[in-house]
Amino acid sequence: MDYNKLAELLFPHITKDPAEYEALYPQRELPMGAKVTRLGPSPTGFIHLGNLYGAFVDERLAHQSGGLFYLRIEDTDDKRQVDGAVEAIISSLEFFGVSFDEGATMDGDKGEYGPYHQSQRAEIYQTYVKQLVQRGAAYPCFCTEEELSAIREEQESLKENPGYYGKWAKHRDLSFDEIQSRIEAGQAFVVRLRSKGIPGGSGEARTISVEDGIRGTLTMPENEQDVVLLKATGIPTYHFAHVVDDHLMRTTHVVRGAEWLPSLPIHVELFQTMGWDLPIYCHTAQLMKMEDGNKRKLSKRKDPELSLDYYRSEGYHPKAVREYLLTILNSNYEEWRMEHPDAPQEAFPFTVEKMSNSGTLFDLDKLNDISKDVLVKIPATELASFLIEWARAYKPEILALLLENQDYLIKILDLGRSGDKPRKDFIYARQMFDFISYFYDDYFQQEDAYPDNVTAADASVILSSYLESYDHQDDQAQWFDKIRGIAQANGYAAKPKDYKKNPVQYKGHVGDVSTVIRIALMGRSMSPDLWEIQQILGEDKTRERIQRMI
Ligand code: GLU
Repeated sequence: MDYNKLAELLFPHITKDPAEYEALYPQRELPMGAKVTRLGPSPTGFIHLGNLYGAFVDERLAHQSGGLFYLRIEDTDDKRQVDGAVEAIISSLEFFGVSFDEGATMDGDKGEYGPYHQSQRAEIYQTYVKQLVQRGAAYPCFCTEEELSAIREEQESLKENPGYYGKWAKHRDLSFDEIQSRIEAGQAFVVRLRSKGIPGGSGEARTISVEDGIRGTLTMPENEQDVVLLKATGIPTYHFAHVVDDHLMRTTHVVRGAEWLPSLPIHVELFQTMGWDLPIYCHTAQLMKMEDGNKRKLSKRKDPELSLDYYRSEGYHPKAVREYLLTILNSNYEEWRMEHPDAPQEAFPFTVEKMSNSGTLFDLDKLNDISKDVLVKIPATELASFLIEWARAYKPEILALLLENQDYLIKILDLGRSGDKPRKDFIYARQMFDFISYFYDDYFQQEDAYPDNVTAADASVILSSYLESYDHQDDQAQWFDKIRGIAQANGYAAKPKDYKKNPVQYKGHVGDVSTVIRIALMGRSMSPDLWEIQQILGEDKTRERIQRMI
């Protein structure tokens, strides 16, 4: 077979030579040991936690080594594409603090190694496939869906490995004339790799060994499949596209999910066939969650927390999400954090070796705990702006309220956060607003009832005496003395310990009395310091709320 003639027949419109691309995208000039990483999301409209998790690894590897990190949009599967998805990916990753040095951006491509959208690289892929055809390493296949299913059925009935390989690869050796007449008849074709692998069924199957950055040496059976390189549309498969791109974009480390492990032998054979160095593959662990005592994979259908949108719409602070991801990414992060409580996250020496290679447990409760620790360190003014920006996007009905009096908001957010045991009330924006909503009349709700040992009549008397004796200028001690007085006057012990010693003698104690006041003021039986709350509410609002409950 004259392969040059075949290549011309298949790709008459391709006139470039691969050498031109090699020259156009030379080795990058970077310091020794610098790593080049990339994120290659598909614009399906769903950005998940795994994307962010992987992006973190990429970003750390690149920036810790003086290398660079770029964004490549893997949009070869147009069935899965969604409008606006690229913008959503970029803005979401940016929100969580992931920045790219190069690649797709909101205003087009940035960098010398583009285009960074696979859909714009058809000519490049076809140039390389044409070269493979010239070398006899790839061939056109005209098999229809029906023919492929017939092959599959026969393989099933004979209990042979499924796929298009060896003796099952029907169009491996079509003659030039046959190919030409099929093309003239307008038959669609894909281009397949002519795999050098020895089909396993023959008993001679060979294995390959690959050094994975996270998993160490991986030994797997070599590829035997004549995989599709170019689809009938002339667009490549993921397998071929990423090989060409990672080579031409001079990627050193390919960080991707463990779901790609089974196709690694294909990628190894493709790199070998192209005569290119294999990048270092780092296959990250699947994100798992505990359910009824069992670990299972996070699922798009069942777990809303798999979507990055979830964290944005709930209003998780990016710092908290990053802090949490670092704790699950590197097993020694928490220990490091204890030793360096105030160090920036970037100061942590991240390594792929410390990454887990079995499932990584994702735990929302743990994220929430970490979030409390992170938020308590963020100044109230910053938290206020964060809450406002979140409301603007996700709860616009409260925006005017928050903007109306920002000093008020800052004081509310700062409540109880100074001193050596600061309150850690805040987790994420939606919860923050719920937590502080009682400060706003429109959202004030009577959530809790008075304690059982306080009758409605008593509550009314307590509140009336409180209102009568209330002096907004009282300091905390003076104020509390008055509450003790009210307790005593109404049959409640002035101190909890008096009540404990002699419970039959009292209706309850001073705590019950302040709970009544608390419920009148805040609608809740639990809250930060009552006196401080009154200072923030101001005298008028304090009196008004007490009055309303009498
Ligand atoms: N486009 C692939 C995905 O979204 C990326 C895999 C890779 O990083 O190589 O899963």
